This record gives sequence, C-alpha cells and structure tokens, in this order.
Amino acid sequence: MGGKKPEGMVLINDQGLRADGRRPDQLRNIKIEAGVLKQADGSCYLEWGGNKVMAAVYGPRECHPRHDQDPTKARVRVRYNMAAFSVSDRKRPGPDRRSQEISKISSEALEHVVLASLYPRNAIDVFIEILEAEAGTRCAGVTAAAVALADAGIPMKGMVTSVAAGKIDGVVCLDLSREEDNFGETDFPIAYVSNTKEIVLLQQDGHFTPADMDRALELTQKAAEEIYELQKQALLRKYEKLAQNGGGDGDDGEPAQPAAASDAAPEAAPEGASDAAPAEAHDEPEAI
Ligand code: ADP
Repeated sequence: MGGKKPEGMVLINDQGLRADGRRPDQLRNIKIEAGVLKQADGSCYLEWGGNKVMAAVYGPRECHPRHDQDPTKARVRVRYNMAAFSVSDRKRPGPDRRSQEISKISSEALEHVVLASLYPRNAIDVFIEILEAEAGTRCAGVTAAAVALADAGIPMKGMVTSVAAGKIDGVVCLDLSREEDNFGETDFPIAYVSNTKEIVLLQQDGHFTPADMDRALELTQKAAEEIYELQKQALLRKYEKLAQNGGGDGDDGEPAQPAAASDAAPEAAPEGASDAAPAEAHDEPEAI
C-alpha cells in the first residue's frame, strides 16, 4: 500500500477485470490441508494465490515462563514469521515490527474463539510460518492457524477465517494481489467467524468512503463464508483419511487435554521414548 503507481499501470481494465484476470469480487485460488505435521498437536498447510503458509499448534501445555500464566485461562500465543526466502529480495530473518504486529493481531483474533477458560495456567502456542509471500499473508496465516487449532482439538466457539478487500483504481475489490497491494489505494483485512457472524479483526490501511466500507464488508463476509467451507472440508478430509487408516497415526482425535497446573511435565512422553531420551523440543516451550 502507498507505493506510487507507475505511469500507465492499469490495475482494472476496460472490461472491469484485474491484471490477473479476476473479477473484483473474485478470490485467488485457495488450497487447505489439515494435519500435515506429525510433531505438532495440530497443523495446516495452506496455499492462497502465491502465498504458501504452514501453521502449527502446540498445547494446551503448561505456560512458560510462569509469570506469563493466567490463573483464569490459557494464553493463546501466536508467532508469525516470514522465512528469509519467502520474498524475492531476501527478507532479514527474525522478528521485526511488522511480524510483531501481525503476531499480536492474529493472537487477538484467535483468542476470541478459543474456550481458553477451560485451560487455566496453560499456553496454546501457534506458529505461523510464511514460506512464500504474495500479499495477504496475515489473512492466509490466521486462516491456516484456525484450521491447525481445530486439528489440535482445541475447543472453539467458531472457526476464524480471514480475508481482505481493498480499493484499486477506485474500485473495491476482494483479496488483493501483490501488485494491487503495492499500488492500490486501500487494504482492508478482516477476520470473521461465520457461525457467530462476528468480526474479530479489522484493519484498514488507506481511505474508504462509507459506501466503500459497506461494499468491502459485504465482499469479505461472503468470501469468508466460502473459505470457511474449505476449512471444514480440509478437516473432514483429514479425519476421513484417519478413519481409513484405522486412526493409526497416534492422534486419537479426542479434544485436547489441559496440562495439570503443577510442576509435573506438561505432556506425557511420546510413545516409545526411553527415560533417558532428551525432552522433545515441544516439551520445553520457548517464550514467544
Ligand atoms: P500482508 O502480507 O498481510 O498483506 P503487508 O501488507 O505488510 O502484509 O505486506 C504485503 C506484502 O509485501 C507481503 O505479503 C509480502 O509479499 C511483501 N513484504 C512484506 N514484508 C516484506 C519484506 N520485509 N521484504 C519483502 N517483501 C515483503
């Protein structure tokens, strides 16, 4: 957003189509797969246009460091990270202001649906790794994270779906591409819970008239409901596959159990691990 549009660049042509051939109300292609990582309690791989995103969930498990514990509920901690190789110029590795902001807003959106009071003193850690980025990575990340939470069996009052609208060449459009994001006038990502019809994230970069805002809300809510169907299908496919394989991947499909709020190790040792075996990396949560 905010880049000066090069002379002669057309984002919407005379037929009302965008540079990649989409109509203003059309999403990029989305593919979602649930349960792709063995070591995580829940996971999701998502492709959305040119974005490739992996989300992994660990927990509920005892919250470390202890001073981060909330005696009334679990903390939902999100770490959004863009891989150094995710963009054409190498991205400097490690956290920056942008990734901290996206981690915070993602955690606030997901916290809204997780039944965190079931797990006092616990943490639910969500890792969002952007492997390839082509605009809209926060939406792709939150959408993948919600599937990974459901895959982990974390009780939620609904599924969060995130999608953006924006304004390009004066037209409100759904799901901006990189070029549209760079040279458009407005970017407007939301996160929406289809079954409760709540908006749990709303950001705006640039200007909208009240009519633009109505149109952006209409486009994003309708799109979120379509993406919600893809999220559900991804989870169903995973459980169908499990059922076909006799459920034999070690995941019992039961809802997550909270860690006891005691000094005991938050999770049982993985099956087959000897007493002398070093702790699994996810038994010693890092602070995020
Ligand atoms: P979002 O990815 O949610 O749209 P932004 O609007 O901040 O978030 O970023 C838009 C796009 O700009 C990203 O998807 C990515 O393609 C690109 N981008 C963001 N940060 C960097 C960076 N440090 N280096 C190169 N490209 C970046």
